[in-house]
Amino acid sequence: MSGRYDHLDESDVRVRASRKGSRPRTKERPAHEDAVLGVVTTVDRGRYTTRVDDRSVIAMRARELGRARIVVGDRVGMVGDTSGRADTLARIVRVEERRTVLRRSADDSDTVERVIVANADQLVIVTALADPEPRARMVDRCLVAAYDAGLDPLLVLTKADLASPAEFLQHYTALDVPAVVTASVVDGERLTVDADDLERVREALQGRTSVLVGHSGVGKSTLVNALVPHAARATGVVNAVTGRGRHTSTSAIALELAEGGWVVDTPGVRSFGLGHVDPATFVQHFEDLAAGTAGCPRGCSHDEPECALDAWVEQGHAGPAGPARLESLRRLLRSRTGEEHG
Ligand code: ZN
Repeated sequence: MSGRYDHLDESDVRVRASRKGSRPRTKERPAHEDAVLGVVTTVDRGRYTTRVDDRSVIAMRARELGRARIVVGDRVGMVGDTSGRADTLARIVRVEERRTVLRRSADDSDTVERVIVANADQLVIVTALADPEPRARMVDRCLVAAYDAGLDPLLVLTKADLASPAEFLQHYTALDVPAVVTASVVDGERLTVDADDLERVREALQGRTSVLVGHSGVGKSTLVNALVPHAARATGVVNAVTGRGRHTSTSAIALELAEGGWVVDTPGVRSFGLGHVDPATFVQHFEDLAAGTAGCPRGCSHDEPECALDAWVEQGHAGPAGPARLESLRRLLRSRTGEEHG
């Protein structure tokens, strides 16, 4: 340090030295340590609505983020005006590492995956028991997406006032998928969910981030409105900066539950393209069966005559439920492909 800085005064040296010295640490330390943390609740044409404590902050992405996508559920760091007051816009300067990602391919033949929601804990598959008839195949595809993403699946069966759930639930016994059965009731002029049933749904969602999927007509909106009574209002807020009103019906939106936790409604998700799901990786989500794949031929689809899993379950390695589990695994794997989407 002698000679080179002789012409500089002490403060110059200190600034230069500290800047140089901090360079290797920028990888460990976020660039903006003073950034305010928020959760992305909806994305609308380049504007990100985030939740910071008990306020909503609208933000745009900072140029330094590059092309990294930001999705609902992302934890982001923001700088600029994070007051959440009208006509203000914050800047998202970083995206925290995602704990989980729920993805889908554009269609089954597509292996390019698209992240729909980040950091969710469970996938709630909403299905009516009647009107419309439940579609086991659509549920299977959702289960594939859930297991693949590392999310816990939860079945919410609606319209139990019209049909019994017993027969439909048999499909999911071997997979041990938890289910909450709900009945519709008329409250004045309004169709809603039976209060006791709703309470059971609330218990299953409390403190967690749950993504709700389901076809139109199954009562998903009714359920969301019952769970988050302010939802309709929250999605209709007009932002002064963006001039954009009403939430577009195609993207996901995260709504905070009064009792803690989030529900993420996905109005635009009609089906999960599952082209990115790999059988070899997928079977790892079935611990009792995964160990039996050691004897499989290379690249085994686990749904072919040479698959070692048949002998594995016959020999009892996967326990008494083994054969039924294997059949369910294969049914899920088959649901990935085929002409019927959803
Ligand atoms: Zn196999």
